[in-house]
Amino acid sequence: MASLYECLSHLYTIATVFFTVLLLESVILIRSITKSFSGSANRPITTTQYLKLIEEKNPASRFKTGLRVQTIECAVCLSMLEEGEEIRKLKCKHTFHKDCLDQWLQLDKATCPLCRSNVLPEEIVAQYHRRRNDQEYGGSDEELVFFLSVALHGSNPRRQW
Ligand SMILES: [Zn+2]
Ligand SMILES: [Zn+2]
Repeated sequence: MASLYECLSHLYTIATVFFTVLLLESVILIRSITKSFSGSANRPITTTQYLKLIEEKNPASRFKTGLRVQTIECAVCLSMLEEGEEIRKLKCKHTFHKDCLDQWLQLDKATCPLCRSNVLPEEIVAQYHRRRNDQEYGGSDEELVFFLSVALHGSNPRRQW
């Protein structure tokens, strides 16, 4: 009877491992499908590409006081624009320090800090932030490995879902 029991428990272990591997395979497959699907539909853009797009739409220049009587304040850092500083003027005619504005535009929505008019098309901003979210919260294969080790060591794998 002991040998029958051993045989059954062996079978049970083999079956558990088999189904775990099967489950993992399907998870990996589904992941790769969803990844490639979202990738082709909406390719994420890097910070460098994003800043390049801002530069294309609103080229930076040097601030010249010229004959202007009025002083202009950068609404991001709240200091005056000084002669020769690198600035960026938006389509809405609002002017900021180039570095201040570029940092601001990377934060949330790419809108003018003063009048909230769009600086870049919404799709581009969405693509950029999707990439950032992917980096921050994207599941890595590490969690799969962790799941595998938990499953093989007999803990309840359902708790992972
Ligand atoms: Zn500034
Ligand atoms: Zn504006």
